[in-house]
Amino acid sequence: MAAVELRDVEKRFGRVQVIRGVDLSIESGEFIVFVGPSGCGKSTLLRLVAGLEEPTGGEVMIGGEVVNDRPPSDRGIAMVFQSYALYPHMTAYENLAFGLKLARAGKGETDAAVKEAARLLQIEPLLDRKPRELSGGQRQRVAIGRALVRHPKVFLFDEPLSNLDAALRVQTRLEIARLHKELKATMIYVTHDQVEAMTLADRIVVLNAGRVEQVGSPLELYEHPANRFVAGFIGSPS
Ligand code: ADP
Ligand code: MG
Repeated sequence: MAAVELRDVEKRFGRVQVIRGVDLSIESGEFIVFVGPSGCGKSTLLRLVAGLEEPTGGEVMIGGEVVNDRPPSDRGIAMVFQSYALYPHMTAYENLAFGLKLARAGKGETDAAVKEAARLLQIEPLLDRKPRELSGGQRQRVAIGRALVRHPKVFLFDEPLSNLDAALRVQTRLEIARLHKELKATMIYVTHDQVEAMTLADRIVVLNAGRVEQVGSPLELYEHPANRFVAGFIGSPS
């Protein structure tokens, strides 16, 4: 059974069709990257999986069940955004614990989950700090931690590195790769950066104007791009 499956998914905003008949099956534990130029529909497709948008056609399935009508909180997913979206008045600990409060977890359970996430992300010494006392990279770790504490089956990342400088981008990218290895969770990751896509993905989904141009491993796309668009985007020779 696929961890996430999209069946002929469409999304219109008014008259504008942004996602066009997307079919995609994602295996449990896969690291999937959506790439494509700005405005091609990457974020919208991710938001459709998250339940932040409703499809105007087709079905979104998670864990074998159609979830079109389910709110984000009831989908077993957690999302990390490009802006960190941390609560400025709360400490890192409180930011991590907040998601669990909503899930009505007990105090002991919350504490254990926060400490485990902090250990995985190596942010234990930072838990007492407020977001303004953290660097950009540290904030993004806290944001990833906030996703982690809820033990989601599926992690969704929308350009999580784009607010970081070059050195931190590399470091955080490696961190996310390590996390994927350790957790064996399904991850869907949006980027417009080919290097990120090529280094992180088990499979890459190339989007263009709301359609899937090609799905394949980085090597497959590089060696056998389906068309010029894919070749141009992946940077392969043909
Ligand atoms: P990407 O993440 O690949 O840059 P998006 O998914 O954000 O692309 O956007 C795809 C297209 O959908 C763009 O043309 C964008 O303007 C449009 N769009 C996204 N969200 C909305 C919305 N809420 N209302 C109207 N148009 C939208
Ligand atoms: Mg986007």
